[in-house]
Amino acid sequence: MTSFKSTMQFDPSETVATKGLGMLPSSAENRNLPISPPASVKDDAEVGKEPSGVSCEDWSGKYSFAPIKEHHVARAMTKRYGDDLYRTAVSDVIIVGCGSAGLSCAYSIARERPDLKVTILEAGVAPGGGAWLGGQLMSAMVVRKPADNFLRELGVPFEDEGDYVVVKHAALFTSTILSKVLSFPNVKLYNATAVEDLITVKDPLKSGNLRVAGVVSNWTLVTLAHGLQSCMDPQTITAPVVCSFAGHDGPFGAFSVKRLVATGMVDKLGDMRGLNMRCAEDCIVNATREVVPGLIVGGMELSELDGANRMGASFGGMLASGQKAAREAIKLYQSYDIVDGEVAGGKVTA
Ligand SMILES: Cc1cc2nc3c(=O)[nH]c(=O)nc-3n(C[C@H](O)[C@H](O)[C@H](O)COP(=O)(O)OP(=O)(O)OC[C@H]3O[C@@H](n4cnc5c(N)ncnc54)[C@H](O)[C@@H]3O)c2cc1C
Repeated sequence: MTSFKSTMQFDPSETVATKGLGMLPSSAENRNLPISPPASVKDDAEVGKEPSGVSCEDWSGKYSFAPIKEHHVARAMTKRYGDDLYRTAVSDVIIVGCGSAGLSCAYSIARERPDLKVTILEAGVAPGGGAWLGGQLMSAMVVRKPADNFLRELGVPFEDEGDYVVVKHAALFTSTILSKVLSFPNVKLYNATAVEDLITVKDPLKSGNLRVAGVVSNWTLVTLAHGLQSCMDPQTITAPVVCSFAGHDGPFGAFSVKRLVATGMVDKLGDMRGLNMRCAEDCIVNATREVVPGLIVGGMELSELDGANRMGASFGGMLASGQKAAREAIKLYQSYDIVDGEVAGGKVTA
């Protein structure tokens, strides 16, 4: 037996279920449960022996994996992660925040312009932001028309209720769009990676102005340990266009617009107003825009900047804000003369 099991003084008559739950131990055989450990668990003499090295999908107790060494796994991950960091250090569009608005933006850009390198940074381990649930921790996701067209395009099924549609579970929307976004070869998602700062440079398009030219990022664990804008040698990613969808104000939320205020690029935040479902969604979609040179803001982060109403658990505004931001991002990108990944000036049209 391994040392773990020996320190536990393993008694095969006790099942995991009876152990620790205060239940009376009973014979596993009597209760028709499998005896633990099963015969397929090898003893110490067997553990550590090289396996046969043949992959075999035999479910009768002879399932065996193709051979592996620890460094194969380590190198498979680090090589790709390193290659990705190298490649995306100069991106075409950066997306901050991978909630429903950020995902909708990423999907729309990647589909429309497969030639653009789209890099998404998400502070959480799980991308999707608040869109794994509907309102108040319930499942269904309400989407007002005409944003149902986007669901149709993604192939997300819904029930038609007239002026709005209902997806049976918000996670169905999020998992579908996420799988599509990640399948695009021109998209890279860094999750568990927080944007800690914005890169700001002189704007070649307007003298005396600053423009956002990229982001400073770090693994979220490092950011949490040392605080935002720490000096823990972060990574930089530059791009001619940055789109931010960092959500409501919070420890990470509304990050980019708060940073604009801190750096003096914007005077103050309007602060999100109370809930008004009737007008809030149209307002967010129509106001989704380039708020300072190089930075487009959408989703609930925009409500913090503009002092717009929140809309509650109705998601069409988030999806359409992402779509609108994608259109604006492509338009901006096309208007630039880009040299070595940086905006050098406006495109000269003949
Ligand atoms: C985890 C979570 C759970 C929620 N649960 C509910 C709920 O149950 N019911 C409800 O009505 N509303 C909920 N909300 C709020 C609501 O769903 C969202 O505010 C709304 O969907 C807005 O969408 P969004 O795309 O603008 O932003 P969000 O869905 O909030 O997504 C913003 C994303 O940006 C990321 N982010 C923020 N700052 C940074 C940074 N500096 N660097 C990198 N990434 C960053 C966040 O981790 C998040 O994933 C939740 C929000 C969150 C984040």
